[in-house]
Amino acid sequence: MKPFAYVNPANEKEAVAALSKEHEKSMPMGGGQDLLARMKDYVTEPDRIVNVKNLDATVTRVNGGLRIGSAMKMVDVAEHADIGRMYPAVAAAAIEVGTPQIRNQGTVGGNINQRPRCWYFRNEEFVCYKKGGNRCFTPEGENQFHAIFGDGPSYIVHPSSLAVPFVAYDATFRLVGPRGERMVKAADYFTMPTKENVKRENVLEPDELLTHVILPAPRKPMPVMMPWAMRVGSSRASPAMRTQWSSYTVTSISTAEAMHTSTWVRRPAGRPWKERS
Ligand SMILES: Cc1cc2nc3c(=O)[nH]c(=O)nc-3n(C[C@H](O)[C@H](O)[C@H](O)COP(=O)(O)OP(=O)(O)OC[C@H]3O[C@@H](n4cnc5c(N)ncnc54)[C@H](O)[C@@H]3O)c2cc1C
Ligand code: SF4
Repeated sequence: MKPFAYVNPANEKEAVAALSKEHEKSMPMGGGQDLLARMKDYVTEPDRIVNVKNLDATVTRVNGGLRIGSAMKMVDVAEHADIGRMYPAVAAAAIEVGTPQIRNQGTVGGNINQRPRCWYFRNEEFVCYKKGGNRCFTPEGENQFHAIFGDGPSYIVHPSSLAVPFVAYDATFRLVGPRGERMVKAADYFTMPTKENVKRENVLEPDELLTHVILPAPRKPMPVMMPWAMRVGSSRASPAMRTQWSSYTVTSISTAEAMHTSTWVRRPAGRPWKERS
């Protein structure tokens, strides 16, 4: 792993001040499970890591909805009584993430901003579009767990389980940078790949942090979403597929169709995907 500096800011302001305008030069770290894995594989090589685990990890009631601090651990999201009662798909998505160890370490901010699981992206020897190269390896390569919607140039499926219900519940993300704060709808935060932005999956600037997820007062009837389908999908999947969690791309479609829901949001594409029945 390339040597790096470590900054342990006391608050949001110090954390933002330690970031950089240049992509991947100075990077926030929550639980570190995705970032450190990429660093060990020489996929991401920042000069500096900024610890954001000590930022807000609380849940606050706001205008009939909830505001969740991005440092909150996924296990706490899964077990929080108000989140479970008001936004059951958020709790269900958190429970489905990886393993107990991952849920105990991983943060909301890290889960939302984790990078794609595409095996070519994760292998330092494949320099694809997302790493500044001039091709995508999946059309002629191993593509069984890749996107089925979207025209490329990258065919990742969005990796974050929490992103999907956040889009479905019409959440807003609070971003903070040197220019102050801005509020971005979850639906506008995640981007489909284009030639111009293929290296990114969202609109976050390199010197910005995602500090809070703001969920509006619950609507009635509640949207019914992917986590149900994921559960059915995962119980039907082979053990090999279970470890490849992006495989829910395909399994969730057939199972969601069986549920006769009116709003589906799932991840068969480079960003959370919405369809009507
Ligand atoms: C076997 C396995 C199974 C998994 N299954 C699932 C699954 O089913 N669903 C799922 O969603 N994930 C799954 N994951 C991925 C795992 O959930 C993520 O790696 C984890 O959520 C990342 O959280 P973290 O806090 O450790 O992120 P970190 O590694 O700390 O950060 C991830 C990225 O987000 C950035 N970041 C962190 N915090 C912020 C912030 N506040 N603002 C802006 N950027 C930030 C970092 O710079 C980094 O690029 C799985 C992983 C493994 C190994
Ligand atoms: S799908 Fe995206 S991340 Fe994977 S090889 Fe193609 S360009 Fe790279």
